[in-house]
Amino acid sequence: MHGGPATREELDRALLSLEDQPGYGLTSEDEVTRLERAAIALQDDELIWRARLLSAEMAGGRGEVAEAMRGMQEVNELAAAHGHTRLLARSHLHLAWTFRDVGDLASCLEHAVKAVELLDDDAPAAMRAMHLIRLADALDDCGSYQEAVLHYEQAEEVAVRAGLVARQVTCLNNRAYSEYLAGDLKRAEATVDRIFEVCRVHDVPLRANTLDTIACIQIALGRYEEALTSIDRAFEVYHALGVLEAMTPAEFLLTRVLAQRKLGDLDGAQRSLDECRALGTSAGLTSVLVRVEQEQAELHAARGDFEAAFHGFQTFHAAEKELVSEQRAAQSKLREAMLETEVVRAEADRLQRLDAYRTHMIATIAHELKNPLTAVIGHLEMMSWIAELPSDGERSLAAMQRNTDRLWGLADSLLELTRLEQTEEPARRDRVDLDAVVAEAVDQLQVVADGDGVRVEHVRAAGENVVLGDAAELHRALSNLVSNAVKYSDPGGTVSVSVERVDDEVVFSCADEGLGISESDQERLFTEFFRSTNGAALDRPGTGLGLAIVQHVAVRHGGRVEVTSELGVGSTFRVHLPAAAD
Ligand code: ADP
Repeated sequence: MHGGPATREELDRALLSLEDQPGYGLTSEDEVTRLERAAIALQDDELIWRARLLSAEMAGGRGEVAEAMRGMQEVNELAAAHGHTRLLARSHLHLAWTFRDVGDLASCLEHAVKAVELLDDDAPAAMRAMHLIRLADALDDCGSYQEAVLHYEQAEEVAVRAGLVARQVTCLNNRAYSEYLAGDLKRAEATVDRIFEVCRVHDVPLRANTLDTIACIQIALGRYEEALTSIDRAFEVYHALGVLEAMTPAEFLLTRVLAQRKLGDLDGAQRSLDECRALGTSAGLTSVLVRVEQEQAELHAARGDFEAAFHGFQTFHAAEKELVSEQRAAQSKLREAMLETEVVRAEADRLQRLDAYRTHMIATIAHELKNPLTAVIGHLEMMSWIAELPSDGERSLAAMQRNTDRLWGLADSLLELTRLEQTEEPARRDRVDLDAVVAEAVDQLQVVADGDGVRVEHVRAAGENVVLGDAAELHRALSNLVSNAVKYSDPGGTVSVSVERVDDEVVFSCADEGLGISESDQERLFTEFFRSTNGAALDRPGTGLGLAIVQHVAVRHGGRVEVTSELGVGSTFRVHLPAAAD
């Protein structure tokens, strides 16, 4: 089995090596998925998002622009929200390229500029050089040739200073290509000479795409034989990589067609062109097919078959139109994907506001309930002092007292729950002996337990079992569990509570021999307002808030609650909390 990167450093390195050599089809998708899984296992958000960005880039490579856009946009927003500037810069870089793929050059340039602007002073040289190269490419695509050359120069300087030969060659390659496209053949030739020189001095082989650039420039300079040799070498180097992708070989074939036509090898040119057409058709490369038709028309003309050449040009224009409309469709898909992300974000905002409103409203109502209730409770107590109440009156008074107590309990639980939801951690971090908390809770519940005929057994631990936290919150949570155990027991039952140290945890457990909880109920037990579907349990008064509070308190203290239970046999609740250091 191939093991994944285990530490943050290893994963960071593995991601960096992929980020440093971008190129569709050069990485396996399994590799990216494996890295994302490793990042998830490490629970490191930044690494997870970096892996996601790579897989979005791969989606773009497969031509799934909308999916790519969604992924990039998502990472872009997360990086912005969490201040991960470098990741933000990278996401802009990928966005730039996605827009370029669909022919939206203005948006491409906008993102390429941001990708450079966002780089901090300490950004690695390889990254800085790559971002500068892409900005230069974007400038060139938008027709700013001079500006592009300036940025290629800057990028090259960064690469040279850091001794990054491969990156320097990429600069020179892209620069030579833009000089060639601008018709500046003298400079293009000089740049090609520099490529040869750099590769010779550093003893690095020429890469396939550089050989293609060189071939194009050689053709423009009229050196057709040399061009043919260069393009054949390009194929060799490319095949040696063992990559299965259509765009690059299709581009090379087009260069070969041109060289062969110029050399007068019209049959050879036609064979290369047919090969390219087949490749473009099977991979759905519209932009390649447009150029195939253009080249086909040129080939007919070179043969002197002007009628066929004329039809060929017509086909070329039709294909070009199709390309433009295909790009438009892709652009609107992109916009849709962007809009979708915005809609999802707006929905999340709305839900968050709604949640805040709900919490606020519950807290207000609970608070407002308590004031009149205090008055009612006070008056009821006063009435209970009146000695001569008729027996009916006493019963009514007792019922009123029970029910006001329940209302008071409900308001109190609601207030507590909203308070717990507002912060993630308890306000206090005191040393709390859990056994003492349990003793107090058991003591307070004794009267109720006696009334119900339930025995509560507290097996005290030998030493202290100390946790760090808020004693009042912990008391409330443990009391809720003990009072549930009593409430859902039948007369004659026993409730056993204990606290023990297990490894680095302090574990409180509360076991009863009561009604028990069905498996399906157990799944939803800790949800607010959940009450059992068991009729016998429903007969006993409750709010469905107690266990939600227990869960909040446990999690806030870095712990968890667990339950094991069987209907008709009994239940055991356990609260695991991290033990305080001695
Ligand atoms: P309630 O106020 O209804 O007791 P809780 O949130 O404390 O609210 O509990 C939710 C539900 O879980 C209860 O309605 C009850 O059905 C079930 N439950 C909780 N503790 C026990 C227990 N010890 N034995 C049986 N059922 C229990």
